[in-house]
Amino acid sequence: MMTLFEREQQACKIIDSMRQELIGIAKYLHENPELGQEEYKAVAKINEFFESKQFQTEIGLTDCPELKTAMRADAVGIHLVKDDTALADTAGAQSEVSTAEGITVTDVADITATGTVDGQMDDASEIYKMAFLGEYDALPGLGHGCGHNLIALMSMGAAVAFACVAGSNWQTTFFGCPAEETIGGKVYMAEEGLFKGYEAALIIHPGGDNEIGGTSLATHPLEVTYHGRSAHIASLTDSGINALDCAVDLYQAVKELKKTFPPHAIVGTIFTKAGEAPNVVPDTATLRMTVRGGTVEDLENIILPAIKKEAQRIADEYEATVDMHHYEPLFKDMRQDPRLLQIFGQTMMEFGKRPRVLPDDEADGSTDVGNVSYEIPTAQPTLSIGSGLEAHTPEFACAAGSDFGFEQAIKGAKIMAITALRFAHYCVNTNTK
Ligand SMILES: [Zn+2]
Ligand SMILES: [Zn+2]
Repeated sequence: MMTLFEREQQACKIIDSMRQELIGIAKYLHENPELGQEEYKAVAKINEFFESKQFQTEIGLTDCPELKTAMRADAVGIHLVKDDTALADTAGAQSEVSTAEGITVTDVADITATGTVDGQMDDASEIYKMAFLGEYDALPGLGHGCGHNLIALMSMGAAVAFACVAGSNWQTTFFGCPAEETIGGKVYMAEEGLFKGYEAALIIHPGGDNEIGGTSLATHPLEVTYHGRSAHIASLTDSGINALDCAVDLYQAVKELKKTFPPHAIVGTIFTKAGEAPNVVPDTATLRMTVRGGTVEDLENIILPAIKKEAQRIADEYEATVDMHHYEPLFKDMRQDPRLLQIFGQTMMEFGKRPRVLPDDEADGSTDVGNVSYEIPTAQPTLSIGSGLEAHTPEFACAAGSDFGFEQAIKGAKIMAITALRFAHYCVNTNTK
């Protein structure tokens, strides 16, 4: 038998053995930043890595055009630790390891004579799956100002280490998720059902502090276009229908409406079309709004219907017409899995720093990881790559390419691998599927 603790140690050794390789890839991504849906170099590099580890890989997932720079790497039935006799030496050990409060995992794994790690579970035919989410898109003008090159590193390292030691009834998938900063690749991946059947999805985001918990806002950007009728501004016979007046009224009305919205609602509005010449009554005016809410339900059932109703009312008042459409997909709010958070928190502490625990409803942004969290248990803690850093700044981009950033990411890979192992044992021992 290989104890859970031994598996964890082995996972860390495997990550250490890939250290230079992983850092090399994160550096390459940092030096070759690519915007969402254009991450060809990143995907090729990551693919090469997983092929060298005998994973089955696929670039471009489903027929969805948004997913042409998505990828997956599957370790199905691959045992990468073949000749490590140290593993076989531990046969016979059985241990109970207490992890985060309230979660006790019993190790029931077995190791075959050849040294492959075999998770001997009650029902050996049962197959479990673990997903590691990688990102790799950069920001215009800032390069890796959100540190997604380090997200790639962490999830790559953790996926390989987990696949090596989790046991044969665990399947491991690294999902390369494109365009987090723009269209949200995971929105489409979730829609295509790619995460179905997985026990959990893990991801760590670099940041300015170690944090677990919190959420992210649901967001569904809306474009509103008014169509009126143009006329000379000084015409004595035709005053036209002023589309810009409609847009301005809506802008004002939304500011008032906001007072009635549920907590955490945010609406940011700009005018993207507001007339061509001041001596012509504008026949077209367009607003773009980022509309966010604490939950999908608040956003889709309360906030957006209220805005749309008001937009229509204003159009009617002016005898204009109005078109409304969502120019980006719905990013759902993040539902962090409490069990994963507990294990993540405990593991981070063991690695030297107790994470700050955020209140369940604290959110300072939106992410497509939320859409994954509506499908399967998911958690995304934050790992510090420099005290007090804020993402989407030049300083953050610098930290994401620094030696300290890489060191932290190697640590993050270990934290993620250990969390995955502990959750895997929890799943098996509580028959959680
Ligand atoms: Zn970002
Ligand atoms: Zn990010």
